Amino acid sequence: MANCIFCKIASGETPANVLYEDDAILAFADINPQSPEHILVIPRKHVENAAALSAEDVNLVGSMVAAANKLAEDRGIAADGYRLVFNVGRHGGQAVDHLHLHLLGGRQLGWPPG
Ligand code: 5GP
Ligand code: ZN
Repeated sequence: MANCIFCKIASGETPANVLYEDDAILAFADINPQSPEHILVIPRKHVENAAALSAEDVNLVGSMVAAANKLAEDRGIAADGYRLVFNVGRHGGQAVDHLHLHLLGGRQLGWPPG
């Protein structure tokens, strides 16, 4: 989608520190990390957010979670635990309207979120 920053990262038009990619998904370091490890996992396909998933997109989410779990293992934060987050809409804290899964870890995270 034109003017979508994550579509541009997926196409390679905008650079990012890409940590994993396959035909359907991409993972890259968040530009403004909120924890020692802060990675975003996105589908290459433009989907606005988790609320906009169609039945045919449901498998994408499983692939995104699996990729995040693998990254957590590979980057040494899995044993201590980590957080996987989908922000949905403005009250949910979503700023970029292209589906993304946050992988946060590498420190004790607070709960509840602000
Ligand atoms: P949201 O608030 O929409 O759930 O999260 C969007 C995330 O995307 C934020 O954590 C923000 O730091 C990250 N972000 C926004 N623009 C860019 C960018 O151009 N490159 C990268 N790597 N991350 C971005
Ligand atoms: Zn997009």
